[in-house]
Amino acid sequence: MSKLFLVPTPIGNLGDITYRAVEVLNSVDLILAEDTRQSGKLLSHYNIKSPLQSHHMFNEHRSVETICTRILSGLKVALISDAGTPGISDPGFLLVRTCLEKGISVETLPGPVALIPALVNSGLPCERFCFEGFLPPKKGRNKRLTRLEEETRTMIFYESPYRLVKTLDEMTGHFGSEREVSVSRELTKVFEENIRGTLPYLSDYYKNKPPKGEIVIVVAGKKD
Ligand code: SAM
Repeated sequence: MSKLFLVPTPIGNLGDITYRAVEVLNSVDLILAEDTRQSGKLLSHYNIKSPLQSHHMFNEHRSVETICTRILSGLKVALISDAGTPGISDPGFLLVRTCLEKGISVETLPGPVALIPALVNSGLPCERFCFEGFLPPKKGRNKRLTRLEEETRTMIFYESPYRLVKTLDEMTGHFGSEREVSVSRELTKVFEENIRGTLPYLSDYYKNKPPKGEIVIVVAGKKD
């Protein structure tokens, strides 16, 4: 039966893929990938031979209609991103929405995503949380942080290593110097690091040791 599958892929450690993800990727007629070279490595590691086609945010608007037409003609298609779950700070939303509008069935497999291990590992309350993705780099950044000043749930942000210290300092300005935070870097990889403390403590830590790699920031919510 024709369908769109969203298939999560590892966020670093190649072993973090489910049996079913491999099965689905092997069974589809076409795999859409953000970066075909990057995904090619994963697919060859698992000996997955399904045809691969590029699908990223720069051609997403143009290509969704064509993809939907192909699925409607009977193809099974899988969407993967460079790492983690498609649609989470990665292309996916537009394709899912367009498929649903056209009556195409969509199935998302559970699997790797950076925010969940960072949250659970933080030691901060995780029964309720909000995911903020990347903060806007310039315009709207201050407004977003101002709105979050009253947030009582644990907050999760994706961040680049180059902006980490600046972001921690801005958060200190908005949330106060006592606020607890946890920074997870290079999750599932050889140099995985999880550092916990107050916002100023982590800012100092990374001023002295400029970070490299991929980063998730988990910030405690405001105390009720
Ligand atoms: N789709 C991905 C997911 O499901 O988590 C997120 C893709 S987004 C373009 C990339 C961001 O996710 C990175 O800048 C970082 O904030 C976070 N990230 C991805 N892999 C990570 C890892 N191994 N360790 C820490 N953060 C990671």
